[in-house]
Amino acid sequence: MEKPHILVSGAGIAGPTLAFWLHRAGFTVTIVERSPKLRASGQNIDIRGHGLTVIERMSLQDEVRAKKTNEKGLRFVDARDHCRAEFPVGDGTGFTGEIEIMRGDLAIILYEATKKDVEFVFGDYVTGYKESNDGVEVEFANGQPTRKFDILIAADGWSSRTRKIAFPDKNDSCVKSLGQWGAWFSLPWQPSDSGWARWYNAPRGRMLLVRPDNERVTRASMWIIHDSKKFQEAQQANEQDQKQLMKDLFADAGWEADRILKEMQNADDFYLQHIAQIKIDTWSRNRVCLLGDSAFCPSPISGMGTTVAIVGAYVLAGEIVQHWPDYAAGFEAYERKMRPFVDKAQKLAPGAPALANPQTQWGISILYFLLGLVAWIRLDKIMGASFSPPATAMELPDYGTLRLKTQ
Ligand SMILES: Cc1cc2nc3c(=O)[nH]c(=O)nc-3n(C[C@H](O)[C@H](O)[C@H](O)COP(=O)(O)OP(=O)(O)OC[C@H]3O[C@@H](n4cnc5c(N)ncnc54)[C@H](O)[C@@H]3O)c2cc1C
Repeated sequence: MEKPHILVSGAGIAGPTLAFWLHRAGFTVTIVERSPKLRASGQNIDIRGHGLTVIERMSLQDEVRAKKTNEKGLRFVDARDHCRAEFPVGDGTGFTGEIEIMRGDLAIILYEATKKDVEFVFGDYVTGYKESNDGVEVEFANGQPTRKFDILIAADGWSSRTRKIAFPDKNDSCVKSLGQWGAWFSLPWQPSDSGWARWYNAPRGRMLLVRPDNERVTRASMWIIHDSKKFQEAQQANEQDQKQLMKDLFADAGWEADRILKEMQNADDFYLQHIAQIKIDTWSRNRVCLLGDSAFCPSPISGMGTTVAIVGAYVLAGEIVQHWPDYAAGFEAYERKMRPFVDKAQKLAPGAPALANPQTQWGISILYFLLGLVAWIRLDKIMGASFSPPATAMELPDYGTLRLKTQ
């Protein structure tokens, strides 16, 4: 009997994780990735709770741990770089996860773990598809002939083009703005960067964050509460114009803003992103199913995006395999099991992100006073995870040795 053939759109984190498990169960998997090569970029991401358990079940924990950034924790600092509240890494349930890794390192680890067994097609993407009783006929952008697959999984990130094709009626309304924008880029390390993440608030909803990586490069990000058209326009503009916008907005921010803005001009990994969540009332339609950020991006401020993507990929693979050939029942079980976990991951701290990014110096003083108090009496420990929702807030299914029943 011919093996079922699954097409996955997107070779980020969720796509290769799903492919790993489906291949192991006996499926044939093709991943189509829009970028001409693996996008091994991005900054510090967290793998928490069940995300780590899935990594362990893939036997990739040693590779992942070897790439940890070893961030010591988070310090809130004032304009003179004095620490006003300190949250050490501890057990990894706070701001700094147990596993902090550069996104690119994780993407490479997952690619290396799958590339022998999975067909990767780089520099192409899905432009349309036709469904029939026995499969889905997929069209691609780069003129390769249409190809037939059993099902199509959209794991192509929060602005998923495949989602747009499958859910034209829901695509615009599923992007929920959090009213904040962020820009990310790298800086040369300097001694003040130490091994701690440093968070600095400036009035008018601005925040600067610098974090260590494992190669003595400092990863910086600039965040601003802003819901004006300026950023919508900037998203379509070129990189120089985007950098200029951030420069204008942060020029008088204080602390290390001068250094960060100067280095931003030379950064070749700059990117600007709208801080938003993806919330859509169903993750599948016929033979197409959404996964990872494409289905349920919780936003970078949740600290949970990578964990839910990895767990979601494992659960989707498990349910597809267990229900095959009834893929619809598999999609339904995946959504039923994952929804409550995703809902918790998307539940941000009350008032986030506005309360953590006050508009006035007075508001910042109150925020730092409260954070100092929380850090001093270790209220974050008493209350459990203070910065991100528990990453074990579901019973993780154990699919054992995944095998197609027909084999
Ligand atoms: C370049 C990059 C940098 C990132 N940096 C950070 C970061 O610094 N901090 C953080 O918290 N999160 C970051 N993220 C997001 C983070 O990786 C995800 O939130 C999370 O890991 C979920 O992964 P995902 O696989 O669902 O999506 P992603 O990791 O976004 O992967 C989606 C993949 O799909 C590809 N793709 C996009 N459109 C198409 C298309 N039409 N057809 C085929 N493929 C397509 C993308 O190139 C990418 O490889 C970044 C994502 C990317 C792509």
